[in-house]
Amino acid sequence: MLNIVLFGPPGSGKGTQAESIIRNYNLLHLSTGDMLRAEIAAQTKLGLEAKTLMDRGELVPDSVVIGMIENRLDAPSQTVGFVFDGFPRTVKQAEALDALLATRKAPIRLVLSLVVGEEELTRRIIARGKTSGRADDQNEEIVKNRVVEYRNKTEPLAKYYAAQGKLKEVKGEARVEEVLADLCKEIDAVK
Ligand code: ADP
Repeated sequence: MLNIVLFGPPGSGKGTQAESIIRNYNLLHLSTGDMLRAEIAAQTKLGLEAKTLMDRGELVPDSVVIGMIENRLDAPSQTVGFVFDGFPRTVKQAEALDALLATRKAPIRLVLSLVVGEEELTRRIIARGKTSGRADDQNEEIVKNRVVEYRNKTEPLAKYYAAQGKLKEVKGEARVEEVLADLCKEIDAVK
């Protein structure tokens, strides 16, 4: 299986690139952000609880997102691999994912880290907020809080995956197609 993690701060382009990667390599896109927004839209209990945290720019509990990912991995599919987008976001989530994939004998092959400077991130998220309708994209304080959560809880994961020899950094400030080409080069090298 070709299992890939897309890693990077909010606004680094994970969602955009994930869409192209799944098309090019016939993979399944697993975005915990999208799953949580679907729960909110369906007004489920889980969605209502997650919304309060997401609107503040805070992470939802590990157990919630790990459970959602486990359900997706268990759902029948013919896929040759998964692209994880926005997950894992904490070391606890990364350890849980490794355990889930180990029992399925399909470990993570590659972690692609999108590198984008802080100024460009804020600019992109606020621009996206004008059309996305996402409350967490429209307020500079909330955006800042998401970046703080990322630096404290998610960035340490880079070391976790580097220690496994799986982390590849890709510059994420070039045009979308150029970034995609660089990502595909890394994927082709492990395929
Ligand atoms: P972005 O990467 O652009 O910030 P996402 O759509 O990935 O946006 O996530 C939006 C929000 O959903 C996060 O700020 C967080 O509150 C919640 N969320 C998504 N994925 C996770 C996760 N793996 N763990 C905890 N919270 C998450």
